Amino acid sequence: MQEKGNISIHTENIFPIIKKFLYSDHEIFLRELVSNAVDATQKINKLASFGEYQGELGETKVSVSFNAEAKTIKISDRGLGMTAEEIKKYINQIAFSGATEFVEKYKDKGDEKHIIGHFGLGFYSAFMVAKEVEINTLSYRDGAEPARWICDGSTEFEITPGTRTDRGTDIILHIAEDSEEFLDQFRLEGILNKYCKFLPVEIEFDGKTINNPSPIWTKQPSELSNEDYLNFYRELYPMAEDPLFWIHLNVDYPFNLTGVLYFPKLKNDFEVNKNKIQLYSRQVFITDEVKDVVPEFLMLLHGVIDSPDIPLNVSRSFLQADGNVKKINTHITKKVADKLGELFKTDRTAYEEKWSDIGVFVKYGMISDDKFYDKAKDYCLVKNVEEKLFTINEFREKIQAVQTDKNGELVILYATDKGKQDAFIQSALKRAYDVLLFDHPIDGHFISFIERKEEKTQIKRVDSDSVDKLITKDELKESVLSDNEQTTVKEVFEKAINNTNMKVQLEPLATDELPVTVVMPEFMRRMKEMGGMGGMSFMGSFPDTYNVIVNSNHPLMRKLLAESDDKKSQLAKHAFDLGLLSQGMLSGADLTQFLNRSINMLDA
Ligand code: ADP
Ligand code: MG
Repeated sequence: MQEKGNISIHTENIFPIIKKFLYSDHEIFLRELVSNAVDATQKINKLASFGEYQGELGETKVSVSFNAEAKTIKISDRGLGMTAEEIKKYINQIAFSGATEFVEKYKDKGDEKHIIGHFGLGFYSAFMVAKEVEINTLSYRDGAEPARWICDGSTEFEITPGTRTDRGTDIILHIAEDSEEFLDQFRLEGILNKYCKFLPVEIEFDGKTINNPSPIWTKQPSELSNEDYLNFYRELYPMAEDPLFWIHLNVDYPFNLTGVLYFPKLKNDFEVNKNKIQLYSRQVFITDEVKDVVPEFLMLLHGVIDSPDIPLNVSRSFLQADGNVKKINTHITKKVADKLGELFKTDRTAYEEKWSDIGVFVKYGMISDDKFYDKAKDYCLVKNVEEKLFTINEFREKIQAVQTDKNGELVILYATDKGKQDAFIQSALKRAYDVLLFDHPIDGHFISFIERKEEKTQIKRVDSDSVDKLITKDELKESVLSDNEQTTVKEVFEKAINNTNMKVQLEPLATDELPVTVVMPEFMRRMKEMGGMGGMSFMGSFPDTYNVIVNSNHPLMRKLLAESDDKKSQLAKHAFDLGLLSQGMLSGADLTQFLNRSINMLDA
């Protein structure tokens, strides 16, 4: 018995199109063929468990081997096998029509990056690397005859009696000249490790089992210990520090999703943390580019998600609009938010200890996802300069009495650098104000975000104004200087400073405050920061402007008024330099002059 035939497809030249189109991803042929072998093995196991197959199951592992001299790669299974009729049906009609459909869908979409994983190509992907493919198979059915199918990638095939004596299938690839790179131990092992590491049936290569058939995400959380979760993490990311905690995902309805997501110890650079989640479909590795499946802020998580309900052979834009993907997104966000809430509630001390690692993540999540914000606002912590942690509401309550201004607005003060802003922090603390520490790159965004969310609230950097003006109260402070004296002092300072970007203003501050304070107003600084981030670049062309706050109640001002013009100017300049110095703004020639002047004063 020998049969020749034509594969009924509409595109005559399907082969060159597929080959060109999938150029960068030829290695997936192995994933497809091994998955088919695994499917066939699982099917025979099922048939046996239903009693529909009465024979010996025997050892049911899948084995992959290659022969560099004969230039072949072989994938063998002890699955359910195929009869000649089934080959005609499943390979000639189904496999090839699947490939035709695939090509029809994508041949116009030049950019192969649009497709995740190129799933759905199946058996035909063998022709990406082989000039000839051979199937040798024996069906599990009673009285079945072994069958052999051979095809050179054209639309013609040949079926003859086969030689296989035990149930199962061998797929033999005769590797094409341009694909001989695959006839290599390390290359094949690498591909198997990437795609087949967690397949549910034992896979053997070079005498070794290369997979773990029951990874932890396929088990019930109740069966697993902390050590199991940690070991799995170490297996996935051998170089990483242990994670902080994890979430086991396990949903059946309305979509199927399993997986374990870990909270890593974050590095300051977000990018290095991204693309650490691996996406699987029924334990077959698909991709680690999960950008559209997982919400942006959750990309910082590590781990595995497995869902057969994520459409894998569709374009990115389609994926974003897909109902299941949206539901999966929402589900993961909710799970993560709830997990954090639970940690906060059950063990606040442990939660606070982890805050320096999870804080960035929580803030990032609040900014980027409203649903997450709604839950996280109750357990998002802020830290004051004394390193004490509060929830936002706890902190509001704590400062309410002293830090509400005359318009009833709560003014939250913060520092970005405890060392540099110490003078300002100290004067705020002297007023019994509390000062938060916002010293992470994300905090700039977080501050503007919170200001928009919280009603009647302003957030100001502690050095953005003189301490009295940071929080304006009704009480009027009297200046000890007369109006005339004040005008003179102002003029003296303006002349001595002689810089239009330094706006001098007199304020009757407490006598123990600095005589001169140089500040960049909160508004100016934020505009500038936005410019720096590319938000409002036109600001970049403006010079920085500062307010020079002269404390008219400081004893120095009386002294200055009594001096000669020269001496007035010298004192004013010196007091101004001290203001600059406390902001870390004194440098170059100004610093040298300041030093010389100080030494002269010591002598005098
Ligand atoms: P899919 O796996 O999505 O069904 P494929 O193109 O990969 O599509 O395979 C087509 C069909 O060929 C399979 O559905 C199966 O019936 C049959 N087949 C492929 N490989 C094997 C195998 N190793 N053992 C038994 N049947 C197989
Ligand atoms: Mg398949």
